[in-house]
Amino acid sequence: MRILMSACKQVVQPMVSFQGPGLTNINMDPFLRRKDKVVIVMGATGTGKSRLAIDLARHNPPAEIINSDKMQVYKGLDIVTNKVTEDECKGIPHHLIGKVDPDSDFTANDFKHHASLAIESILERDRLPIIAGGSNSYIEALVDEHSEFRMKYECCFLWVDVAIPVLHSFVSERVDRMVQMGLVEEVRRMFDSTTEKEYTRGIRRAIGVPEMDEYLQGEASGNNDDETQERLLQAAISKIKENTCILAYRQLQKIRRLQARRGWNMHRLDATEAFLKHHAETNQAWEKLVARPATRIVRQFLLD
Ligand code: ATP
Repeated sequence: MRILMSACKQVVQPMVSFQGPGLTNINMDPFLRRKDKVVIVMGATGTGKSRLAIDLARHNPPAEIINSDKMQVYKGLDIVTNKVTEDECKGIPHHLIGKVDPDSDFTANDFKHHASLAIESILERDRLPIIAGGSNSYIEALVDEHSEFRMKYECCFLWVDVAIPVLHSFVSERVDRMVQMGLVEEVRRMFDSTTEKEYTRGIRRAIGVPEMDEYLQGEASGNNDDETQERLLQAAISKIKENTCILAYRQLQKIRRLQARRGWNMHRLDATEAFLKHHAETNQAWEKLVARPATRIVRQFLLD
């Protein structure tokens, strides 16, 4: 039973129906069934997708969030991959986060499969599925390379955008905060617990891991003096910042491509001003520029 049907479904009148023995009013055209509704929050790393997804879930009909960040699906490295904390989740259930064996490879096909199961289970609970995360190849695979998806679901795409220079300085400061929160210790624990020194599989590809290799090798060998180690650490932190900025830029390019070439109808929410403010003003600007407009868009989408 899906009690939110009126809110979360697009009603399409069936044109042909069939009444046979033991069958009642079977709609013959799968395109003409009532479509369930799914909200997809996109944006480059650091733009506030997770925050917006939680804001939406708190201000709309009951909702649950499905993570679409390819590194956050793995167990571990919570600081490095910038997972939402329990506190930040504000009681909203999150799926596909911190679940997968960190040494395995979770592919776009795995994402399609598990995200589809999560969507169906959320709908079964009469809730709105909100997909949020930066891995655009996962979202593209789910939406456009999964034949059933467009047939079954009506999508509302929200794109949180922040001007690149502003975003670059924000993600660089975020790396400093991650270091203060224990990024180095987190990677060191993983480095010490394995003999594997390749960075081509699972969570080991996360930005923040390969960059620390030389510093941690130096530490383990004991061959370097303190000054050399400090230099290697600072070089690793700079590289993490640089690679995060490159990631943000690539993700933005990919979103623009999805919009231009795939024709995805995205609602762009420009959060730049919120990133330029400080403290309480940041929250006010976020509410005004991002959270409230997005809530209105989603409410309208659910009514249409
Ligand atoms: P691509 O096709 O380049 O993999 P994508 O859209 O599938 O792009 P992205 O989310 O852009 O996936 O991730 C690309 C790479 O960025 C990942 O392989 C990983 O190295 C890094 N990355 C992504 N998310 C995170 C994260 N949360 N923490 C650390 N590194 C990340």
